[in-house]
Amino acid sequence: MVREILKEPNPLLRKKSEAVLDASKKEIQDLISDMKETMKKAEGVGLAAPQIGINLRVAVMEVNQHSYVIINPEIKKLSNEKIISEEGCLSVPDIWGLVERSKKIIIKGQNEKGEFVKIYGSGLLARVIQHELDHLNGILFIDKTAKISKIQKREAVEL
Ligand code: ZN
Repeated sequence: MVREILKEPNPLLRKKSEAVLDASKKEIQDLISDMKETMKKAEGVGLAAPQIGINLRVAVMEVNQHSYVIINPEIKKLSNEKIISEEGCLSVPDIWGLVERSKKIIIKGQNEKGEFVKIYGSGLLARVIQHELDHLNGILFIDKTAKISKIQKREAVEL
């Protein structure tokens, strides 16, 4: 089921999400399937559970035609090498900003079957993982962007 994506300044986006105790539970499986559908409809590359109002540590990603589900993710390694690139968020519509992120990341967590997995991300995948993990801690990219590089509002073109 496609769910509504909460927008800033909804307070649920600012809450630290809680760990999932049993990934195999039906409610978690339903949540994952709703998140995948919602992300697809919104044409996003990542979605975290708090973005649909569920403060649990679950994120889905779709990067380079590869689909990822990560439950209770933990960062194992972040590269010292950083990249500054433009980022946006489904919960912060019409705004993009430059955000510095580690170029590579290794996380561990559980997949949708509850199996323990590691994900090695670099480039776009590393960026998306860091963005989604921030959501689980109540952090939005606008907290990290040095400056908002673009604000495209309808009024902006109505000269
Ligand atoms: Zn986001």
